[in-house]
Amino acid sequence: MNRVVIDKDRCKACKLCINVCQRKLLELADELNAKGYHPIAIHAVEKCTACGLCAIMCPEASIEVFKEIKVKKTA
Ligand code: SF4
Ligand code: SF4
Repeated sequence: MNRVVIDKDRCKACKLCINVCQRKLLELADELNAKGYHPIAIHAVEKCTACGLCAIMCPEASIEVFKEIKVKKTA
């Protein structure tokens, strides 16, 4: 499965990543981070295509996206 890793304490809740995600997988969390913002959270991560747009868009570099690659074993 692809992974989206969020450094919640860097997030300033600007919502740029929310707007850029075509799958609408990102939202603001209920809790507050160390800066007093509602940080971003991802739901239904299994639907993430690992397009990377959210990470590229984030001005705080608080998102990392990892795409799962399947390696075929050869004998
Ligand atoms: S990598 Fe793409 S699909 Fe996944 S959460 Fe970010 S913008 Fe959405
Ligand atoms: S773009 Fe970055 S700073 Fe803005 S809401 Fe998303 S994770 Fe937070």
